[in-house]
Formats: sequence, C-alpha cells, structure tokens
Amino acid sequence: MVADPNIIYFGGAFDPVHRGHMDSVQIVREFFPNAKITVVPGFLPPRNANEQKSIATPFVDRVAMVVVAFDEWAQVDVSSVEEELKTPNYTYLTLEKFSQENPGSRLAWMIGADQLQSFPTWRNPRRILELASLVVLPRLSLAGGDLLEMATHVASSLGFGTTVDKDNFRVDLDGGGSIYVMKRMPQSVSSSEIRKLATKNLKEIETMVAPAVMDYISDLGLYQN
Ligand code: ATP
Repeated sequence: MVADPNIIYFGGAFDPVHRGHMDSVQIVREFFPNAKITVVPGFLPPRNANEQKSIATPFVDRVAMVVVAFDEWAQVDVSSVEEELKTPNYTYLTLEKFSQENPGSRLAWMIGADQLQSFPTWRNPRRILELASLVVLPRLSLAGGDLLEMATHVASSLGFGTTVDKDNFRVDLDGGGSIYVMKRMPQSVSSSEIRKLATKNLKEIETMVAPAVMDYISDLGLYQN
C-alpha cells in the first residue's frame, strides 16, 4: 500500500506564472485532496545560471505574481525559501531543507513532462527521489502511456528497481517513493511564449495568465521590451 504525499512542492521560474501552472496545481490538488501544495519560485534556477543569462524579472515580482495567481486557493501556499539558499540553487538542496523542516512528512515535487525528460541531468537526481516522490504533468506530446513509460525509464536509469501500476499510472520505486503521472493535460502555454508575445501586444497574453497577474504585468510594465 503506497502512502500518498502530504506536502507537494511546485518549483519553477514562474516568469511569469501562467494558466498552465494554475491548471497543473488544480489537477494535482484534485488528485491529492489531503495534501498541501507549496509553490516555490526559484531565485536563480541553475538552468539560467549555466547559460550565464539571468532571469530579467526580479525574484520579488515573480513571487508576487505567484501570490496573486493563487490568492485564496484552498490547500495552496507560496514559499520564497529559495532566496535564502545559495545560488545557483539545486532542487535536492531545497528538498533537504524542506525534509528537515517537516520530519515524518511524505514529500513530493511537481514537474512538467518536459522536465521529467531532462530530470536525469539535474544535480543529484537520485537524492531527489530519495527525499520525495515526483508528480508529473503531461505537456504537449508527452502524455499518457508514453509518459508512464518515460517515468519508468528515468527511474531505472537512475538505478531504482521499479514496479509499474498501470491502472493508477504510478511507478513505485524500491526505497519508498513513487512517480505519479497525471492524466489530465494542463493548458498548453509557456512563460517564454508569454514573454515573447507581451513585447508585441499585452492583449495577446490575456487568456494565458490570471487577471490579477495581467494587472501586475501591465502596472509594472513587465516584459515590454
Ligand atoms: P519557459 O517557457 O520559460 O521554459 P515554463 O512555461 O516551462 O517556462 P517554468 O516556470 O519554467 O515555466 O515551469 C515550472 C514547472 O511547470 C516546470 O516543471 C514545467 O515543466 C511545468 N510547466 C510549465 N508549464 C506547463 C504546462 N503548460 N503544462 C505542464 N507543465 C508545465
């Protein structure tokens, strides 16, 4: 009997937070109605540090947009802990901190399918799976049975023995954790697409972000050049 996670973290750049992120949280909170979901904006995600280009939007604004997007969502809160960690920060270090702060809790980390694909290249991926389960959201063509297969492959490539539960779309790993694959697809939108469209005409991103995020972007003139 697998014990489902009771705290689920959702990391990312959130530059800006969009409908795809919001759908992801909605799907996961319906799937795990007893879990708390904490959104964790990255201070300087390693991807950007490696590319030697910083995220243009200040951390404080990315956090503020996440806060207004999920305002009054039951079960959901926002953590700015990554500001306190050294940069570039790695997910396994954030999870070590969360794990120390929540002894006895069952943790999980939410990612989109594109990130599952690159997961083995993350710093210390085995440690991440020792500390937490993964909850994977389908994205574009990465979905359904193929995504379950990818999850199995990723876990075994990292040296975990696996048991696949095809009915529940879950891969259980020797050592305790699981990879949960969600069936419902969030809205297909990305932050990079939003940043690009916003430079042309703010109106074009109206359906892609929450109204309060739209107001924040236009009040501060974010992504305008
Ligand atoms: P960018 O376009 O700049 O790469 P992004 O839209 O992927 O950004 P991030 O903040 O980097 O946004 O994403 C945080 C997490 O949310 C990642 O795990 C990503 O895979 C996931 N995610 C983002 N958008 C979607 C979406 N539309 N469907 C499913 N997962 C998503």
